[in-house]
Amino acid sequence: MIVMKFGGSSVESWEAIARVAGIVESRIAQRPVVVVSAMGKTTNKLLAIASAAVAGKREEALDQLAQLRDFHRRESSGADQEIESHFAELGELVRGLAVMGELTPRATDAISAYGERLSSIIVTSAFRARGMDAVHLDSRKFIITDRRHTHAAPLFSETYARLSTIPPIAQKNVVVMGGFIASTEEGVTTTLGRGGSDYTASIVGAGIGAEEIQIWTDVDGMLTADPTILPGGRRVETCSFAEAAELAYFGAKVLHPATVLPAIEKNIPVRILNSRRPDVAGTLIVAAAPPTANAIRSIACKRNITVVNIVSTRMFMAHGFLRRIFEVFDRFETPVDMLATSEVSVSMTIDNTCALDAIRAELETFSEVSVETGQSIVCLVGDNIRHTPGVAARIFGALKDVNVRMVSQGASLLNFSLVVAAADLRRAVESLHAEFFPPQG
Ligand code: ADP
Ligand code: ASP
Ligand code: MG
Repeated sequence: MIVMKFGGSSVESWEAIARVAGIVESRIAQRPVVVVSAMGKTTNKLLAIASAAVAGKREEALDQLAQLRDFHRRESSGADQEIESHFAELGELVRGLAVMGELTPRATDAISAYGERLSSIIVTSAFRARGMDAVHLDSRKFIITDRRHTHAAPLFSETYARLSTIPPIAQKNVVVMGGFIASTEEGVTTTLGRGGSDYTASIVGAGIGAEEIQIWTDVDGMLTADPTILPGGRRVETCSFAEAAELAYFGAKVLHPATVLPAIEKNIPVRILNSRRPDVAGTLIVAAAPPTANAIRSIACKRNITVVNIVSTRMFMAHGFLRRIFEVFDRFETPVDMLATSEVSVSMTIDNTCALDAIRAELETFSEVSVETGQSIVCLVGDNIRHTPGVAARIFGALKDVNVRMVSQGASLLNFSLVVAAADLRRAVESLHAEFFPPQG
């Protein structure tokens, strides 16, 4: 069996879904379990509707909901009844939110889950219209999570136990499930976090013992640079789970960072493929990727990063200083991505600034704090970095005209990360890419 996950742009219209149906049909012998994202930008739209509703813009919210309903009606056929009833429920929810004036994480999940609930039904009916024997399964009955709404973590033993009932169903039919959505043991809807359909695919893959987990998207695979920053990067043919995890964590949106975890656990290859160019071989992610001559596999970037500089108000770095700092970040559930220390100061980068004011206030009780916004992390990833001499020299040579704000290497042995100002990001990536991936031929 294989898992085939199709992202939002791969199912953005009836025409796109027809293309997906063709791809799935061509692999029917491998007994695919299909995982789909919400259609196009539906998740963003649902979240915008929820925000408008609680901000007192009830009519605007209902208006946008009507547009979203029209879009789903237009881009589907044969699933009318279910679409209507889902939108009727959504209407109730939005009206309720407008009365309450408050958007809890639990309500956010209830609303955003409709994207995948709808798309999975529409895709199932499209498959049936093509003559495939498609069965729709509600992912919320299979993926069981904790109660951390909007970024829930799967409870693996329960989830795998439930997923093990799928193979007999998939024996005779094509199974279609929504990504991203799950539920607590009590049956309350949760979600796995933005971009989480990739994660659903790998959880399902691990749970059914799939031979391969395919992530079908809108690019040819993992590219050597983020195409939104530097178009024209090359396709990475293979990379290791560790490299893919590092790239995903440092901004390669093509894969949700948690995706490789279940795949590693069960040693299932993951393949990234392009639903618009199904004949391109894509990127194969496996435990041990064949080595390449190049030290670097790809360059990832994380934008909108904030650097927090913390200077000890005592003369020297007393022991316990780092513990106190980390304790503050931990209490406010704010992950730290990069870290650099000197005698009396520590610089760290954070992505999530929701709790920054509170964090800053606490840190200021024992240190001086300054904050720089608008920074970016550039992360060069490659298993070969660790045993290739001179990589750092090449990196700094390529960046001789760029002000490098922070550097980190060594922690994972396969990444070299730098912080540069947002204004220098493109130039930095361009120079590094030219150094490590010079034009061929
Ligand atoms: P989907 O809706 O299929 O899940 P996403 O938008 O989540 O698709 O991910 C695909 C996008 O990831 C690409 O369109 C591309 O802009 C972005 N991306 C960022 N870094 C990379 C990279 N290194 N290689 C490929 N794509 C990348
Ligand atoms: N639809 C969800 C999102 O937009 C999950 C996904 O597409 O992976 O975040
Ligand atoms: Mg995605």
